[in-house]
Amino acid sequence: MAKITFIGLGNMGGPMASNLIKAGHEVTVFDLSKAAVEALVAEGAKTSDTAHSAADGAECVITMLPAGQHVEAVYLGDDGLLARLPADTLIIDSSTIAPETARGVAEAAKEKNLPFIDAPVSGGVGGAKAGTLTFICGGEEDTFNRAKPILEAMGKNIFHAGPHGAGQVAKICNNMLLAILMSGTSEALALGAKNGLDPAVLSEIMKQSSGGNWALNVYNPWPGVMEGAPASRDYQGGFLVKLMTKDLGLAFDNAVKNQASIPMGSLARNLFQLHAGQGNEDLDFSSIQRLYRGE
Ligand code: NAD
Repeated sequence: MAKITFIGLGNMGGPMASNLIKAGHEVTVFDLSKAAVEALVAEGAKTSDTAHSAADGAECVITMLPAGQHVEAVYLGDDGLLARLPADTLIIDSSTIAPETARGVAEAAKEKNLPFIDAPVSGGVGGAKAGTLTFICGGEEDTFNRAKPILEAMGKNIFHAGPHGAGQVAKICNNMLLAILMSGTSEALALGAKNGLDPAVLSEIMKQSSGGNWALNVYNPWPGVMEGAPASRDYQGGFLVKLMTKDLGLAFDNAVKNQASIPMGSLARNLFQLHAGQGNEDLDFSSIQRLYRGE
C-alpha cells in the first residue's frame, strides 16, 4: 500500500480519494474547501495546511482539479510542487486539461526526475463513487505500469493511450462526443414530448433501438425518467455545464491547431455556451434538456 497525497476533492476527487482509503492506502488530502477536506478526514484521511506540507513524504501525488490553470498553479513555478517533491515521486494528474498543458507539466517534471502521467477519467460521479472509472493515460510505459495498481483502486478500465498528452487528447475526443450525444438525446426527447409521448416510454424504445446510447442507459436528461440521474434532482451535482464548456473549448482549440473540422462539436459548444450564459453554469450538463424545453 502506498502513501498518497490527493489534491482536489470536488465532485470527482472526493469519492476517488475515498476509494483509495477503502483500498488501504495511506491518504493525505488537500483542497481549498475546508468542508471537502473534513469529509475525507472523517473517512480516515490525514490533511495539512498547504498542498506543499500535504505532499511531504508522499510516494505518489494525485491531482483532480478543475482546469489547466489550476494544475499549473499547483505544480509549476517557484511555489509549485515540482520544486519541492523528492526525485522519483510518482505524479498522476487526472484533471481534464489541454494536451499541451499536460506535456508542459510532464517536461518540467522530467527535469526534476519526477515521473508524470496525464490520467483523465470518464464515468462521471457515479463511476467515481463506485470505483469503476475509466482512466485514459498518457506517458511513458514504466510510469504507466507504476501508476496502474493505484488507479485500479478507483477504476475498472485503465488505458494507456500513448505518450504524454495522449490521455488528454482521447478524453477531449470522448467529451466532445458526449456533448453531441447528450444534446441529440435531449432534442429527440423534447420532440417526442411535443407530440404527447411519455419521455420514459420514448427513452425505453430508443434504448432498444438504433438510437440507444450512454445518456439513455445511465444518465437520462429528462426529469423523473431515471432515479439517481442528476435530472431527477434538479440537475444538482454531477458534471457541471461550466466544465463541459471548458472541455468543448479544449476540443475547439485543438481542432484549430490541427486544422481538423468539427462541425458537430462546434454546434454542441455553442449550445452549451448559450445554456451556460442563461445562468446554468453550475448545473449538471444534462440540464441542456432545459434549453430544448424552452425553460
Ligand atoms: P469540482 O469543481 O467539483 O472540484 C474541483 C475541486 O478542486 C474543488 O473542490 C476545488 O476547491 C478544488 N481546487 C481548485 N483549485 C485548487 C487548488 N489550487 N488547490 C486545491 N484544491 C483546489 O470538479 P470535478 O467535477 O471534481 O472535476 C474535476 C476535473 O475532472 C475537471 O477537470 C473535470 O473536467 C474532470 N471530470 C469531471 C467529471 C464529472 O462528472 N464531474 C467527469 C470526468 C472528468
